[in-house]
Amino acid sequence: MTDDNLVYILDGKVYINLTNACTNNCVFCIRTIKDDVLGANLFLSTENISVWDVVNQLENIKDKLSNEIIFCGYGEPTLKLDLIKSVAKYIKENYPGTIIRINTNGHANLIYKKNILPELKGLIDKFSISLNGENEEVYNKLSQPNIKGAYQSVKDFIKEAVKEGFDTTATVVTGYKDYKVDLQKCIEITKELGAKFRERPWLDNGY
Ligand code: SF4
Repeated sequence: MTDDNLVYILDGKVYINLTNACTNNCVFCIRTIKDDVLGANLFLSTENISVWDVVNQLENIKDKLSNEIIFCGYGEPTLKLDLIKSVAKYIKENYPGTIIRINTNGHANLIYKKNILPELKGLIDKFSISLNGENEEVYNKLSQPNIKGAYQSVKDFIKEAVKEGFDTTATVVTGYKDYKVDLQKCIEITKELGAKFRERPWLDNGY
């Protein structure tokens, strides 16, 4: 049993924080800048988290459960794929009608060396996927991935998520220091991949 903040509320929405690990090391990552998002300390003292740890924390705030729950936090949620599936199943069974979204760096299929999206059908409704660049060079500068082929894998993941019928949005963080992203090109790429697009202006309090 952990006392870490696995579940937190931001702007009335409920977020689930399962890991501090990530296959990126984005220059703007709030993990490297601060240890809280609007007061919620999201650093985990352990990566050893059970489905019941998460479920207990969800039940503790059940009066505040929103109609959309988001796997997000200070790391890449899909690194805890089995946990995501178990928690999402619990939510769908106990709180039917809840929309579940994953905010992801889009590396999952590269990490697991297979298409994981079919496993998430019926459990996850939406994906918000960080495109963060109009080409590999820009992406690598901003996101500093520690795996090869990351940028292409992000684009493939977006395309595959659309194909599998998930509500899919590609996102781009803008306005962080002097880093430049060609927003128009990112919008075009997203259109070609068939997804929705959202710009995420950098905010000092997190994004
Ligand atoms: S993908 Fe997200 S969690 Fe990972 S380094 Fe970038 S901002 Fe941080």
